[in-house]
Amino acid sequence: MVCKKTVQRYKNVEHQKLTGNLYFCAMNNCRDVKFYVPTIRNKQNTIIAMNLDFTFQNPTRIHFGRSAMNHLADELKKFGPNILLVYGKNSIKKMGLYDQVIRTLKECGKNVVELPGINSNPRYSQLLEGARLVREHHVDLILAVGGGSVIDCSKGIAMSAYCEGDPWTRYWENGEDVDNPVVPVASILTMTGTASEMNGGSVITHEDKKLKLGRVFPLELASPKFSILNPEFTYSVPKYQMVSGIFDIFSHLMEQYFSGDDDCVSDYLLEGDMLALISAARKAIVNQEDYEARSNIMWCATMGLNKILALSKTQDWEVHMIEHQLGAYTDCAHGIGLAIISVPYYRHIYKYGLHRFVRYAQNIWHVAPEDKTDEQIALEGIQALGDFIAEMGIPQTLREVGATEEMLPLIAESTVKCGGYHVPTTGEVLEILKACY
Ligand SMILES: [Zn+2]
Repeated sequence: MVCKKTVQRYKNVEHQKLTGNLYFCAMNNCRDVKFYVPTIRNKQNTIIAMNLDFTFQNPTRIHFGRSAMNHLADELKKFGPNILLVYGKNSIKKMGLYDQVIRTLKECGKNVVELPGINSNPRYSQLLEGARLVREHHVDLILAVGGGSVIDCSKGIAMSAYCEGDPWTRYWENGEDVDNPVVPVASILTMTGTASEMNGGSVITHEDKKLKLGRVFPLELASPKFSILNPEFTYSVPKYQMVSGIFDIFSHLMEQYFSGDDDCVSDYLLEGDMLALISAARKAIVNQEDYEARSNIMWCATMGLNKILALSKTQDWEVHMIEHQLGAYTDCAHGIGLAIISVPYYRHIYKYGLHRFVRYAQNIWHVAPEDKTDEQIALEGIQALGDFIAEMGIPQTLREVGATEEMLPLIAESTVKCGGYHVPTTGEVLEILKACY
């Protein structure tokens, strides 16, 4: 799919070679989820600045902090009486949140239909079940209580309930514009990481096709109408899931950061978010109930992928593309998969964006540059990333998350290829996967 507006914009660039790259639309008004955006390369064949124009508005109202739930009743009053409550396994019941939400819904006179049991990689069959419930009960609001998976699934349901034809093919595979009525979504967040609480993303796994695809819907359609963010709700998340979420956030920041050459405000903001996250993560692994740390992690996540930090950036996203297929084959936790892939991936591509990897090493990991070549500085930065992953106690090989050697070529073949400084071939993706194995 070609984003014609973007192609037109760069058609007349002189002395530069235009090539096609597959990207998620994240920085302009283009409504395509995946499209070929021309990358501009200099004589060394590295991708250089794009300085894209943008229009930006994020419609999600955020209620943040210990008293955030006090806003739920007033928010619910703005919607009709029929609510689809979507949640995961039992954790919201164990922590008492389920009872609290049901009580408020009843006090507001709502009719509640429930869709429990959403998986950590939400399945297309669950989305279809939710879409059926929406139609059958004339649902006015989908209230997602959980982490990114529950919210992603809820957005998928919202887009699909009144879709003519097969929503998977139309909206996830072909990236078509949504042309049917959409049910509003709202969220109460219990696990940080994906920023689904303030963006239009919906990552769904088609279990029969063994495909995990992300669709970024326009913010005005899919971004939750309101989201309640109480950092205390994240305390009960097991440590493994917490570090998975932390690395997912970190990966979102790096995916946006490793692209472009220009002096761009988004890069400075990304560096600030990365530094805040590292500091908070180190406190949270010592004390999971450190409110300051957990609230910083929560806001780092939301800021990290609500599109603000991506403005004017071309972005990378290949680590996510590889992980999506790893997840489709192994069902591993998203952030853990990203952590395993990241160091071998960056070791593979750093030469194509050396200047940025030098800046990353110095500004994020404080690598001293004296008496070192740029390559040495860059590699020290990537090593520091690996050390941080180890410090978080995250597994570092694909074997540990259930991948087999036979899966690697299948994962490499089915991975969408994109990149910030370099677009890898299937052979290169396979090489990266072998290095993680
Ligand atoms: Zn992610």
